[in-house]
Amino acid sequence: MKCVGFIGWRGMVGSVLIDRMIYKGNFDTIIPYFFSTSQEGKKGPILSKNQNTNHLYNAYNINILKEMNIIITCQGSKYTKEIYKKLRKNKWGGYWIDASSYLRMKKNSIICLDPVNKDIIYKGLNKGIKDFIGGNCTVSLMLMALSGLFKKKLIDWISVSTYQAASGSGSKNMCELLKQMGVIYNNIKNELKDTNYKILEIEKKIKNISLSNIMPIYNFKSVLAGSLIPWIDKKMNNGQSREEWKGQSETNKILSNKKKIIIDGLCVRIGTLRCHSQSLTIKMNKNISIQEIKKIILKNNKWIKIIPNTYSETINKLTPINVSGTLNILIGRLRKMNIGSKYISAFTVGDQLLWGAAEPIRRMLKIIVSNT
Ligand code: NAP
Repeated sequence: MKCVGFIGWRGMVGSVLIDRMIYKGNFDTIIPYFFSTSQEGKKGPILSKNQNTNHLYNAYNINILKEMNIIITCQGSKYTKEIYKKLRKNKWGGYWIDASSYLRMKKNSIICLDPVNKDIIYKGLNKGIKDFIGGNCTVSLMLMALSGLFKKKLIDWISVSTYQAASGSGSKNMCELLKQMGVIYNNIKNELKDTNYKILEIEKKIKNISLSNIMPIYNFKSVLAGSLIPWIDKKMNNGQSREEWKGQSETNKILSNKKKIIIDGLCVRIGTLRCHSQSLTIKMNKNISIQEIKKIILKNNKWIKIIPNTYSETINKLTPINVSGTLNILIGRLRKMNIGSKYISAFTVGDQLLWGAAEPIRRMLKIIVSNT
């Protein structure tokens, strides 16, 4: 049975991964070891009948990490950057499964999203590839929704606007959003009790509190509650944010496309807690009916749910709160656009902590455990 080291299991992605693994009985197929960058020596969870210890090991200890057959990390790029090379230099030949972006675009890594690129994953495993990296959350969610159209080579290009949840930046950021909401509410709760409330005065008070130094903005560097932040990740040389750059680069890598499909747009952080949404303008290369498009989309995987393009279905179903904690990939607002018959609009919503992060790497672990 394979020894699997878990790093980053306390964080947003890590805790969803652990929950899913417990639910699917995956811990009974491995011998798990838990590591931490901050809690060495404390007690970790006991999750498997095969577990030898619940000691929390130091996540920077190469000698212990080297004993693992598989390492699965949800700790972040900084950790991967520091540890991965040292391990390989120390002749560690195990499998590295990672939720962070650091190794995603490297030649010797595969971005794993098996409902979309299973063939590439199996080919890679047979060729001896050892690094399997989860994709960017919005990219994986978009591909889960649209890969039927990609596979049939029906897409010319996509223009996208994202609506990304606070938890996409990690647990501290999600807590910060909640604290910001609390500051706002606590400062206006008395005014709200007054049935003759003066709405403009309330709004002005919220603006002043939001821009004052009592608003916690340590993690986001800006106010998210009652506002939004139209920038995610670092700046690229061409004016894109790195999150926007990932859209085209990772999609084409996941699909192993020779002819690159152009994908561009703006990535925006909004004040939802969990689940990312995306508004898409898709330029098709053929004039196909919406009915046919729906059929192709639906056929591609069992998690896709098409939401009819009506007011009541949309507001009751096509929302982050409805998809949170589920594997459903929702797609709605499907219609031909005024721009022309080959242009369609779509709106997708998916749980970025499940299909956007934890689920592809959980499934990758299962594939490695069953096939190597
Ligand atoms: P996170 O929530 O910030 O957790 C990262 C680490 O922070 C934890 O593993 C834990 O490490 C430490 N930590 C410190 N205090 C904590 C506390 N009170 N509660 C929980 N953890 C605490 O990060 P994440 O969002 O899971 O992201 C991990 C990686 O996945 C990143 O590279 C990210 O880009 C990527 N990713 C994230 C998402 C998403 O939606 N969040 C989606 C796709 C990919 P120690 O136990 O070592 O202290």
